[in-house]
Amino acid sequence: MLETKTLAHYRTIASDLALPGLAFIDGEFCPASSGRVFENINPATGEILGTVAHCETADVDIAVAAARRAFESGAWSRTAPEERKEVLLRLAELVRREAEALAVMESLDTGKAIADCLHEIGNEVATFFQWYAELIDKVFGKVAPTGEDALALIVKEPIGVVGMVLPWNFPLLMVAWKLAPALAAGCSAVVKPAEQSPLTALRLAELAVEAGVPAGVINVLPGFGETAGQAVGRHPDIDVVSFTGSTEVGAHFLKYAGESNLKPVGLEMGGKSPFIVLDDAPIDDRLVDEAVSSALWNAGQNCSANMRQMVGAKVKDEFLSKVLDKVKTWKVGDPLDPETRIGSMITKEHQERVLGYIEMGRREGAALCAGGGRPAELPGYFVEPTVFGDVRPDMTIAREEIFGPVLGVITVKDEDEALTLARDTVYGLHATVFTRDIDRAIRMARRLPCGTVSINAFTEGDIKTPFGGYRQSGSLARDNGTEAMDQYTQTKTIWIAVS
Ligand code: NAD
Repeated sequence: MLETKTLAHYRTIASDLALPGLAFIDGEFCPASSGRVFENINPATGEILGTVAHCETADVDIAVAAARRAFESGAWSRTAPEERKEVLLRLAELVRREAEALAVMESLDTGKAIADCLHEIGNEVATFFQWYAELIDKVFGKVAPTGEDALALIVKEPIGVVGMVLPWNFPLLMVAWKLAPALAAGCSAVVKPAEQSPLTALRLAELAVEAGVPAGVINVLPGFGETAGQAVGRHPDIDVVSFTGSTEVGAHFLKYAGESNLKPVGLEMGGKSPFIVLDDAPIDDRLVDEAVSSALWNAGQNCSANMRQMVGAKVKDEFLSKVLDKVKTWKVGDPLDPETRIGSMITKEHQERVLGYIEMGRREGAALCAGGGRPAELPGYFVEPTVFGDVRPDMTIAREEIFGPVLGVITVKDEDEALTLARDTVYGLHATVFTRDIDRAIRMARRLPCGTVSINAFTEGDIKTPFGGYRQSGSLARDNGTEAMDQYTQTKTIWIAVS
C-alpha cells in the first residue's frame, strides 16, 4: 500500500514529469508516420499538457506488422513459461517503483483524484502483472479419454496479435486488465488508448521493454476512434480485439469484424447498475458509505456506477437523509490534493453532457436534493456531487448511462418491484443488493441478469473473479480471473495414433 503524501509533493512530481508524446512501436518511441500530433488537455485546468502523436491507419499497419513479426519469431510467444513469468514479475516491480509518477501522470491526463490513481496503479495494476505472471506456469492442458490406439492432447495456444481499444475512465488499469493476461498467454498487442488519456499506457510500454518484454510485443498508438480505433477493428492481421468502452462503439467492432477477417471481439461496455436496499437492511454507516461511493467514486465515471438506487419505502427517508450527510464529506477539488475524492470530468463536452442529464432530471420532475451545478471556484470541467430523490423509473436519468457524479433514489414497495425495475434495462453489468435475509439475497442474485451481483457490499470483485456483462453490457468474454486467459488463447486438439 502506497503511503499518501501532500499536495505539494504531488505538485513537485507533476512539475518534474517528462510526459510521453510519441507513439511506441517495435520497442521504441516514434512520431506518427504523417508527423501529425494532437493536443492533450488537463481537464482539471483546461490547460494543454502537451502534444501526442496522432496515429492513423498507416501507423496501425506498421504496429500490426511489428506485433506479427514479434509473435512469429517466438521471442515471446514460444518462450518457456518461467521466462515470461520472470519478465512480468519484473514489470510488476517496475510499476511499483514508478507508481507515484504514473499516478500523477494519470491524474494530470484525466482529472482523476490522485488517491484513486495511487491505489489503482500502485496496488491494482502492479498486482495484475504479478498475478498473471504467477499463473503462467500453473496452466495445464488436458488429455482426452481415448482407446489405446490414440493419445489426444487438448492444448491452449496464444491467439496471436491482440488489438486492445480502451476507455479513458481507468486508463492504466484497463490496459493492465487486458495486457497482463494477453502477455501471460504469449500474445503480442497493439494498444489504442482513448484519445483523452494516452500517457500512462505509453510509459507502461517503455517499462515493459525495461523489464525484458521483446520489441514489437507491445505497441501503443495514441489516436482517435474513427481512424486508429477503426483501423484496429478492421485490420485483417489482428487475431482478436478486446474492447472496453461504450455499448454504441462496441457495436461498431462487431461490424468491423464482420466486414474484415471475422476476428472474435471481446466487449466490455456500459451499464446502468441497480443498487437495491430492501427494507430489512440496516441503514448503517457501511451501507451509506457504499451507496455513496458506488455512485460517486471516480466522479461517477464508472461502468458499474450505481446511480439507480432502489430503496424500500420503509427505509427510504432514513437512507436519503444519511446519504445527503455523507455526500457533503466528498470533497470536489484539485485532483492532485490527496483529500480530493471527486476530480474533474474528462472533457468539457462530457461535463456539459452530465449537466444536461441533471437538467433533464429536474425538468422531468425528480427532486434535486444536492449539487446540480459546476463548482464556481474550480477552473476545469468539474460537476458537483448531485443527489436526486423521488426518481421515477421511466425518467431519462434512470434509464441512460450518465457517467457523472449523480445518485438517484427510486422508492420501491418490495422485493418483486425492485427486481422488476432492476431487470428493466438493456444493460447487465452489475447489481448490488442489501438485505439481512440470506434467502432473499440468493433469490435476487439468481434472478438479476448481470455479470456481477454484489450482496451486502458494493464491489466489482477482485483480480481473481471474472468481470463482464450480460445483455448489452458485454459479450461472453470476461476480464480478470483465470477466465481472462480464454480471450487470448485458442484450443487445439492434437490426435496421435498409437500402433
Ligand atoms: P468510447 O466507446 O467512446 O471509447 C472507447 C474507445 O473506443 C476509445 O479508445 C475510442 O477512441 C474508441 N472509439 C470511439 N469511437 C470509435 C469508432 N467509431 N471506431 C473504433 N473505435 C472507436 O468509451 P469512453 O467514453 O472512452 O468510455 C466510457 C464507456 O466505457 C462507458 O460506456 C463505460 O460504461 C464503458 N466502460 C466499460 C467497462 C467495463 O468493464 N464494462 C469499463 C470501463 C468503461
